[in-house]
Amino acid sequence: MALLLVLADHPAGAAEVRRGGLVVEYTDARDRTALNTVFLAWSDAVRDLQAIGLNVPEGVRIEAAGSAAAFTASTGEPPGVAASTRGRMIRTQRLSALGARGLLPFTVRHEAFHTAQPAGLPRWLAEGLARTFSGEALNDLRGPTGLDRVTDASLSARLLVRDPARLSAAYHEATRRARMLVQKRGWRAVLGLPAKE
Ligand SMILES: [Zn+2]
Repeated sequence: MALLLVLADHPAGAAEVRRGGLVVEYTDARDRTALNTVFLAWSDAVRDLQAIGLNVPEGVRIEAAGSAAAFTASTGEPPGVAASTRGRMIRTQRLSALGARGLLPFTVRHEAFHTAQPAGLPRWLAEGLARTFSGEALNDLRGPTGLDRVTDASLSARLLVRDPARLSAAYHEATRRARMLVQKRGWRAVLGLPAKE
């Protein structure tokens, strides 16, 4: 177990911690106990992404909100969303809240995938692959999602709705399609990467 080095205490009470290439900023002191889980999940994700041909960029930052309201204010996402990634910035709900719901390692892996994914993936495929990579798909119900006749493009559009039940069905359907593609063709082909020698 490595020690966490606190780099800076921000005036507002936020703290910033770096381990390896990842910086995590949090504002709620309870999040301190979740940091180890975050850094472990991150280093596992970086290794597992490399194995499928993807590299996490330098300088990724996780900014954990102090509350669900603060998360919505900084991302525009509804409160039921765990995290949101733009480029190398990952914004999450309070880490200890995700941890208490058993979501923290999945969330870190999911967002790590988004930082490393090839440019230009359609939304449904990016979300489906992120959930397949993270392991979230293992907990999905295997029954029909009711969206099996929807086109890929319409599925991408449905991933932007704010109603939690409809959003959840769209995520499950995107994951079902992405997982089938990976099973049939392998990660590298689905990601558009050249086959390994
Ligand atoms: Zn995602």
